[in-house]
Amino acid sequence: MQCGTCSVICNLSPAEKPFPRKEMIWAGWGLKDKLLSDPDIWLCLQCGDCTTTCPRGVKPGDVLASLRNFSYLHYARPKFLAKLLSKPKYLPVVIAIPIIFILTIIYFAGTLTIPEGVVNYSKFFPHLYLNISFSILLFLMIIGMIKSIKVFQKDLKKNTAFKKHKNSLLRCFISAIKEILTHEKFNKCRYHKYRYYTHLMVFWGFIILLIVTIFAIIAVVFFEYPLSLWNPVKIASNFAAFLLFTGLTVMIYNRIVNKSFAGNSNYMDWVFLISIYLLVISGVFVQIARFQNWTIAYHLYTLHLVLDWFVIIYAPYTKFGHFIYRTIAMTYAKYVGRE
Ligand code: SF4
Ligand code: SF4
Repeated sequence: MQCGTCSVICNLSPAEKPFPRKEMIWAGWGLKDKLLSDPDIWLCLQCGDCTTTCPRGVKPGDVLASLRNFSYLHYARPKFLAKLLSKPKYLPVVIAIPIIFILTIIYFAGTLTIPEGVVNYSKFFPHLYLNISFSILLFLMIIGMIKSIKVFQKDLKKNTAFKKHKNSLLRCFISAIKEILTHEKFNKCRYHKYRYYTHLMVFWGFIILLIVTIFAIIAVVFFEYPLSLWNPVKIASNFAAFLLFTGLTVMIYNRIVNKSFAGNSNYMDWVFLISIYLLVISGVFVQIARFQNWTIAYHLYTLHLVLDWFVIIYAPYTKFGHFIYRTIAMTYAKYVGRE
């Protein structure tokens, strides 16, 4: 209908060339390249305000979310990994890859049997092998990510709608990071405040978990490991697990029960949410299994490592990629004076 209600209601949309109405028109015209190089699709935080108020029920918020999902496929390098992760029929393949890799490494480490005695995960997957193999994978993932970012940046620059470079790039980057850390823009959404709180919980839960994981990797080399339950690092990781579990439970519940305002969820949304959810749950059980000396501890640990891979190593090819693309697009938007 092109009434413009969606752009008016969106509290994140700039006054000049606002979104999402123009994107709805471009999408209707099939302007794929224009849409993919549009930083505005990343400024949308999928709060659902426009979807709730659109008089035609065409869900502009969902359209922008679909465009972002399409961007992962379009920009990810190597492309075949993004393709594998975007289709349900390839799910067995993307699960089999980490299982085979992890078991092969453990086989070469000579520890591919369930160790006797007190549960100690390093007896099953020696930390040296674990750290080296995952570091190499991380390195390869980062190389792929850098290639994707380069193509994405090139496309953003090609966009003729926003060209006047006004600010220093570093200052824009710092400002974007500040906004991401505080979720200050997310808080401007009107109708579904739960989205702000749940995203904040999941975001900070993940950041804390990332920091304690880095500490754990260092602790393996320099300090006594495993850590006790009351070690501050353990307390921080359990607090992060609580944040993630609570935030994700509300997100998943609303996507199943309150579809009218949570928006449509597609395969990529579910892969993203369920993989992090299972990662958190398996992490908690891995910890309990160690303290309780459960016989299935090593099986749980292997499952947890597979999920680790799924979330971290596959990150640029799944919806997790929004973390990267959104940061770049937000920086760029500030750079061209788009506030
Ligand atoms: S998407 Fe809906 S609210 Fe936006 S211009 Fe079209 S009809 Fe109006
Ligand atoms: S979903 Fe929210 S942030 Fe995105 S365009 Fe609609 S109103 Fe704006």
